[in-house]
Amino acid sequence: MAYEIIDEIKREEITIEDVVQSTFENINKTEHKLHSFVNLYRTEALEKAKKLDNKLKNNEPVGDLYGLPLGVKDLICIKNKPVTCASNILEGFKPPYNATVITKLIEKSDGICIGSTNMDEFAMGSSTENSCYGETYNPWNLSCVPGGSSGGSGASVSGGQVLAALGSDTGGSIRCPASYCGVTGLKPTYGRVSRYGLIAYANSLDQIGPLTKCVYDAALLMELMAGFDEKDSTSVNLSVENYTKDLKNSIEGRKIGIPLEFFEKGLDKSVKTKVNDGIKILENLGAESVEMSFPHLEYTIPTYYLIAMSEASSNLARYDGLRYGKGPSDLSGDIFDVFSRTRGEQFGKEVRKRIIMGTYALSAGYYDMFYMKALKARTLIKNDFKKAFERCDVIVSPTMPTTAFKVGELIDDPLKMYLMDILTCPVNLAGLPAISIPCGFDNKDLPIGFQIIGNYFEEKTILNFGFELEQKLDIYKRSPPVIGGK
Ligand code: GLN
Repeated sequence: MAYEIIDEIKREEITIEDVVQSTFENINKTEHKLHSFVNLYRTEALEKAKKLDNKLKNNEPVGDLYGLPLGVKDLICIKNKPVTCASNILEGFKPPYNATVITKLIEKSDGICIGSTNMDEFAMGSSTENSCYGETYNPWNLSCVPGGSSGGSGASVSGGQVLAALGSDTGGSIRCPASYCGVTGLKPTYGRVSRYGLIAYANSLDQIGPLTKCVYDAALLMELMAGFDEKDSTSVNLSVENYTKDLKNSIEGRKIGIPLEFFEKGLDKSVKTKVNDGIKILENLGAESVEMSFPHLEYTIPTYYLIAMSEASSNLARYDGLRYGKGPSDLSGDIFDVFSRTRGEQFGKEVRKRIIMGTYALSAGYYDMFYMKALKARTLIKNDFKKAFERCDVIVSPTMPTTAFKVGELIDDPLKMYLMDILTCPVNLAGLPAISIPCGFDNKDLPIGFQIIGNYFEEKTILNFGFELEQKLDIYKRSPPVIGGK
């Protein structure tokens, strides 16, 4: 676990240089099978390791992530390092500044960025198959997808390459790979973590969060990355709680909401069984289940995709092939020819499709019919949660309706892939926090995710419930076959 490594380093039982060396050895052994990374920073990481080792020798104060190697999704800006959102249109782009999360975790807390992780282009997808670098593979079964869009981060943690990685979640992109790869993934409340330096997909939905091996590590990272940031006007000015301290609070007498619609059609039998077993564990720990209805769940997918695509079409308008990236391959014709040719060539198919659909939904004449309607449905979904939280402390459900599917299986059936997001997207539409933790395996030995949704800024509560469940289940230390586990 990350916290154990940090403790060992601080007790001088191991040097940071050794930790970074062995991280790259592990990556060397598995990267050709997983393809989790799009860039690796071995030289810089080792240099930083040596510098950090000296801090302890010289009795200087050290940060809370002291020497911890981290993977960073390829849409979070790191000063002077390439960031591409797994898109050809951003090839060669190097931001001149750090995202706030990088400042907090790498600069201030002494973490070490060892590379950027693969993802679906501009975070559009649930499988990490829409990447200009090619797909990433699931450590539990290399013929399956790791989930998306933060699939590189999920696979790198699950496959033992790093103990923690950053992802972003617009409609489930942290929780989906956490579920499919058998790791912990937390999507914070909208506004809890600064989005400064996160390249936007759909800015009213996006949040950065951690993917880790255990709940304690997620709490640790959250404690360090959350908080108000004047550079992000949507970040909320509210003090950050001490998440690691409250993990072991008793959940006796607390109420778990069971939204019946989340357990209905489309669920794998094994997913339903394991999630119900998880609920029983929470009940045995003294929590009380309350059944509830979530009448507007059926509107989730059209609502989410209309809003996400509309915002994306506007956000992605800035990629004109001139301001960022390698530029146009051909300058013939007027500015509009260059603009549309470059975008046509350098954006992938899924991104082009979503820009077109989003532009359509926002266009005069259709705006009221599509975009406005989606905003209204978003309010209905928000209100379903509001009502639900009057009766319970957390809401639980499966994270994904199924376990990981095969690479290529859904690539020609985008609608089916969109429908997979039914249980994660409502959380983003409402702006709530949610965590996914592994709760078992199906008969093909693929991990199943258990989702715990909290009320606004109740990260503490979902981490507490997640920790209690994780400790009782005791499966989080299991390793996938790719690193010798079974
Ligand atoms: N699968 C969803 C989509 O494609 C969610 C992606 C995300 O959370 N970034 O939009």
